Amino acid sequence: MKIKYDFHLHSCLSPCGDNDMTPYNLVNMAKLMGYDIIALTDHNSCLNCPAAIKAGEQAGITVVPGMELCTAEEIHTVCLFPTLEKALDFSKYVKTTMPQVENDENIFGNQYIMDETDRILGSEEILLTTASGISIDDVVGKVTEFDGAVFPAHLDRASYSVLSVLGFMYPEMNFTCAEFTHKAYIPQYEEKHKLLKNMKHLRNSDAHYLENMLEASETIDLPECTPQAVVNYILGK
Ligand SMILES: [Zn+2]
Ligand SMILES: [Zn+2]
Repeated sequence: MKIKYDFHLHSCLSPCGDNDMTPYNLVNMAKLMGYDIIALTDHNSCLNCPAAIKAGEQAGITVVPGMELCTAEEIHTVCLFPTLEKALDFSKYVKTTMPQVENDENIFGNQYIMDETDRILGSEEILLTTASGISIDDVVGKVTEFDGAVFPAHLDRASYSVLSVLGFMYPEMNFTCAEFTHKAYIPQYEEKHKLLKNMKHLRNSDAHYLENMLEASETIDLPECTPQAVVNYILGK
């Protein structure tokens, strides 16, 4: 069945995410905008996924637990998991690889952890936008250990994308899927980077503010509207 998706959204846990981007608000906005399934992908953390999944259950929209992982090379990658448990385990692991730099809320913004009713449960104290210790060569293998799937983020952006940082991709990265913004003209990228021709393509919003969320338009074909089906789709299973 055709599923309307957005697999790259930030909540108030991301320091650059708006404080109004609460799990409750973003899930309900996605529902209003016509999505069947979304993923919550904060920078280097999955700690608002429990709230987003609960809010999704109440609103009637599927939420995939995820993370936008910043690799050691400062390349952004979107990691999605079949279960909350796996996502939280991965989140715990990623934290052990990060520099233990404290977040200065006045400079970088708040990193709120919330429940599904917008109650603040606490804040993540380590700055989440630093590079993790996981390299671009290891990211697929590492995410696979946690039963997830990963794709390089916003390929057509001038910063923090694999093409802006390295200028190219190589087969050993083992990516099966790549993300573009809604503005990208993908054939132009396929022409230059032949690997893309054998990869799936997704277009996500990467919204950090409620007003940056887009009306649902992109679809993928899934046998069922579940996180596991999304992981399988990305892996080509
Ligand atoms: Zn990014
Ligand atoms: Zn992002």
